[in-house]
Amino acid sequence: MKVDLRKIYRFEPIPSQPDGSLPKGGDVYYECGGCKEVVSSVSHIKVSCSCGNLVGGGGTVEIKSPDQVTPLRGKLK
Ligand SMILES: [Zn+2]
Repeated sequence: MKVDLRKIYRFEPIPSQPDGSLPKGGDVYYECGGCKEVVSSVSHIKVSCSCGNLVGGGGTVEIKSPDQVTPLRGKLK
């Protein structure tokens, strides 16, 4: 069963790193531009968004199209 993180967190977009890579951290999440689902940037459980652009697990996320991803900072509501 999928957890809707938007019910738990309030998300704000954050800028990419100066070198163009995506930020990463315990409070950083990625929004998929394709399906609009949100995935933790350091997910330890296996997750993937509906369209398969973001596939996470083991503390990292594999991104097929980084230009389709918006980094977000999540704060508990
Ligand atoms: Zn997706």
